[in-house]
Amino acid sequence: MLKNLKYLRVINPDPTSLILEKIRLAEEIFTDWKEYFYKDEKFLNKLKNYEKAIKKSNELMEKLGTFEECYICSVIEKTGCCKIGLENEVTINILLINMFFNIEIPKEREVPGRCFFVGPTGCKIFARPYLCREYFCNRLLRLFSPEEYALLTQTISYELTLLYEISGYIRKELEFLLGDFLLELDITGYS
Ligand code: SF4
Ligand code: SF4
Repeated sequence: MLKNLKYLRVINPDPTSLILEKIRLAEEIFTDWKEYFYKDEKFLNKLKNYEKAIKKSNELMEKLGTFEECYICSVIEKTGCCKIGLENEVTINILLINMFFNIEIPKEREVPGRCFFVGPTGCKIFARPYLCREYFCNRLLRLFSPEEYALLTQTISYELTLLYEISGYIRKELEFLLGDFLLELDITGYS
């Protein structure tokens, strides 16, 4: 596995083969180490807190109408910002975290020209990358008052802080177990 992880240090111009390789590596790590992590109370606690934070952000976004607006933009108008290539914002660690949440990871790109994780009603993964969570286009910004926007950015920042923490925890544990630096778990691999 360690040798295969080094693959990501080479810039890969094909976004699909890059994400497929990251999924393959995440599956390999998950198969080998899931029992270890599922027995770790500290990890389970981090996972639970992160899940709660995602749900809280989602509830707020739902209330502020962003999901509906993004649905109209992406699915009905077929525009939207989840373009091909953006899937590689999803790191191996984010894939792994989705696996710990029992989220089914797609095997292929369902909608041509769109992000690998786009499905008929939007993004198929639960734990999403920093860029995807932080981005609010002008169309969305028009929906919020300054106070709502402040609350939203605060809520998302908390969620992303927990993502950073749990990713760091997984990486530190795996580095300890495997005896190597595993920068590849947290890099996008295309820049
Ligand atoms: S963030 Fe903006 S551009 Fe992207 S899907 Fe939503 S409304 Fe469309
Ligand atoms: S929100 Fe999901 S579908 Fe959209 S770019 Fe990010 S990972 Fe891809």
